[in-house]
Amino acid sequence: MRDICRDTLMNEYIHLPFFFQRTPYGVLLTNDIGEHHVLEDDDFEKFVKTKKGIHADILCELEGKFFCVKKMTQEMIEIYATRYRTKKYFIFESTSLHMIVVTNRCNQSCVYCHASSDDAYMTSGDMSVDTADLTVKNILMSPSRHIKIEFQGGEPTLNFEIIRHVVSQRGVLEGHGKAVSFVVCSNLLNVSDEEMKFLIDNKVSISTSLDGPAYLHDQCRVINSGGGTHDKVVNTLSRFRENGHDDVAALLTVHKGNISCLHDVVDEYLRLGFESVFIRGLNPFGRCEKNADILAYEQEEFISAYKNIMEYIIEFNKKGVRVSEEYFSMMARRILTPFGCGFVDMQSPAGGAICGLMYDADGNVFVSDEARMMYRSHADTAFLLGNVHVDTRSEWFRSENVERMLRDSVLECIPGCGWCVFAPYCGVDPVRIYRDTRMDGISRDICGGKKALFEYIFSKIYSEDAFVRRLVRSWAWQR
Ligand code: SF4
Repeated sequence: MRDICRDTLMNEYIHLPFFFQRTPYGVLLTNDIGEHHVLEDDDFEKFVKTKKGIHADILCELEGKFFCVKKMTQEMIEIYATRYRTKKYFIFESTSLHMIVVTNRCNQSCVYCHASSDDAYMTSGDMSVDTADLTVKNILMSPSRHIKIEFQGGEPTLNFEIIRHVVSQRGVLEGHGKAVSFVVCSNLLNVSDEEMKFLIDNKVSISTSLDGPAYLHDQCRVINSGGGTHDKVVNTLSRFRENGHDDVAALLTVHKGNISCLHDVVDEYLRLGFESVFIRGLNPFGRCEKNADILAYEQEEFISAYKNIMEYIIEFNKKGVRVSEEYFSMMARRILTPFGCGFVDMQSPAGGAICGLMYDADGNVFVSDEARMMYRSHADTAFLLGNVHVDTRSEWFRSENVERMLRDSVLECIPGCGWCVFAPYCGVDPVRIYRDTRMDGISRDICGGKKALFEYIFSKIYSEDAFVRRLVRSWAWQR
């Protein structure tokens, strides 16, 4: 029965809503619950036009993925709704990521610093104990049971006392039924032995920046008085590892000076024992915006460099060297598993406030890191929610800024995205869109190259090379 083409079968089915796009490997179909399928051109024509001759196996698969049904029963509606709710679980989880800027001072002056950090020798710019306590009090009000507290800056280790103070509240947070984890985003320039011991003893993860070997890293990541920082980063990294702490991740910022040398960056990451690299584009705020003439590249250039480096990474895996790229893995997880990827910038509606909140050193609260950057660079309050000294979490979430941000960031209602085949896996960063469309008065493409990256990722998911298909699946399921 399953092996025959049933001429009349398709007429028994009704279509459910789906998106589609023609690709070199067939017609890609996706739907709101995140299912995807590729049909050969001929089968697609039969499917949409209900012509005869479509294979029973294909119809079964399409039905299983909710592209069509024989009859829409109440039970099926409930299954569909559950699948949709699971995909949008982050809306019910709010807020799990809490970014605390413990200081705006920094001991580096990175050419592309989007946080507009102040000099390390300034006497102001640190978070006080009082502000830290009020911040923790508001974190406790988050419904989410999983809390990640990320210390940012400036360079957060310059105000280590506040890191110590907040981490010491772990028991209070756990006492309220929260599972807590901590991350310090540090340039690793000045971590003393005593501070390192504290971070290790308290299982604090480390996130740092590494732009490749010294000749690339030291182009942009320099200390205030001049001079590169590569050797210091590598040295601190080794000290962490010698002390048994492997929980150190690094990310890379791509700019005009290193975009054509990403192979050297991957080689350096492998030399230093990393198994993944995060290829991250420029964030056009603060110093990055001011230095655009020496940093910026065309979007096409980034996409081409990204694809090249992914091919390089795939080749390593074929030779038995395990290495992945974080953005690719997050998107693969979103496409191939029922789980979200927790990527705040890729949610619909936007993940700002719902997934992550940013607390500045003076107690100001923003929907995201980019929102804080825009406030610091342009004094723009469009994404400022309030201040821990003045109002509370429930007031922030009732504010007009949150309502507007959520309303304007539902992808399904955005022209161009509403019918995009990748919309079920995509999301927008409303601060970036606001910045691009209002700050300089130019209306731009809000997609920002995401479509080209999705096309590339799907070409690997449906690659003719079985090794590549398996590799992409392994990246999707790795945690
Ligand atoms: S941002 Fe781009 S890839 Fe994402 S849904 Fe919109 S058009 Fe598609």
